Amino acid sequence: MKLLISRRLPDSVMAAAEARFEVTCRATTQPMDHDECVAALAEYDVVLPTLGDAFREAAFAAAGQPRVRLLANFGVGYNHIDVDAAKACGVRVTNTPGAVTDATADIAMTLMLMTARRAGEGERLVRESGWKGWHPVQMLGMHVTGKRLGVIGMGRIGQAIARRCHFGFGMSVAYAARSDKDMEFPAERMELPALMGACDVVVLAVPASPETHHLVGAAELAAMQPHAILINIARGDVVDEAALIAALEAGQIAGAGLDVYEFEPEVPQALRALENVTLLPHLGTAALEVREDMGRMALDNVIAFAEGRPVPNPV
Ligand code: NAP
Repeated sequence: MKLLISRRLPDSVMAAAEARFEVTCRATTQPMDHDECVAALAEYDVVLPTLGDAFREAAFAAAGQPRVRLLANFGVGYNHIDVDAAKACGVRVTNTPGAVTDATADIAMTLMLMTARRAGEGERLVRESGWKGWHPVQMLGMHVTGKRLGVIGMGRIGQAIARRCHFGFGMSVAYAARSDKDMEFPAERMELPALMGACDVVVLAVPASPETHHLVGAAELAAMQPHAILINIARGDVVDEAALIAALEAGQIAGAGLDVYEFEPEVPQALRALENVTLLPHLGTAALEVREDMGRMALDNVIAFAEGRPVPNPV
């Protein structure tokens, strides 16, 4: 079976894939563009794609009747794949849920604490030799303990963040979701506009979809309190980035912590110029053992498919 791996994975995963299949791995770290996706659909039995690979409707339309039967995505988010168009040509899609949950929740906590306590700004001050010494009212930030967290998208990652905030930081938890969630700690379900106004820290953990595009825009940001901060570990386009920049520049909200960007990897100069934002380069799952788990999970789907068994993680 011919397997295309779109970006090089950890060595142990590459070795496991090569032991089992005829593997081609692209040499670049850049996403597959439309033409590459069309060619891959014709040339391989299975593709193991990842973030940004352009398996859009147009690629399936151009491919006609593809040779590929499975796209075994490396990652839980698959907004770069048009799943309906894939299914319409008989191509199944799988992902890697669960393997990413704790690591991504940890990055949300990193962003939350760094932004609330002005850690990025403080780090820059020290590195630039601008620090003149401790004093009682130097760089005062927001005390996170006991504050109110609002989670938008209370799925696996949203719940892992809420758990950390409740048990670790004594925070009360509110969430906006399409359905009630049953959790081992108290959490209040609220409508989105009310949640935006009621919380000190708002975290986005929804998948990117047409429904969640710009879920947080100018109106939602205007509803937030001036001392509140926004954290996005989901996907860039669930926030209207221009509206976020305007809200930050106007002091409508106190800060933002971002792991993802609307036009990633482009990060607007206006964001980079702001002291009250923490900017990470999409580090959510960036730990070797997590990437190995994700790779093994993606491969388990390929192996099940090759053996004619049900795939464990269909989407
Ligand atoms: P999940 O378990 O499927 O949770 C997503 C949650 O979002 C579900 O509870 C779902 O609600 C909810 N939701 C969907 N549409 C919504 C809407 N319109 N309004 C409110 N809630 C909505 O997924 P997950 O594993 O937590 O992952 C979430 C996302 O995080 C992924 O899709 C991915 O894009 C992103 N992610 C980012 C990184 C990173 O590196 N920064 C890493 C991993 C994942 P229902 O339960 O009602 O369906």
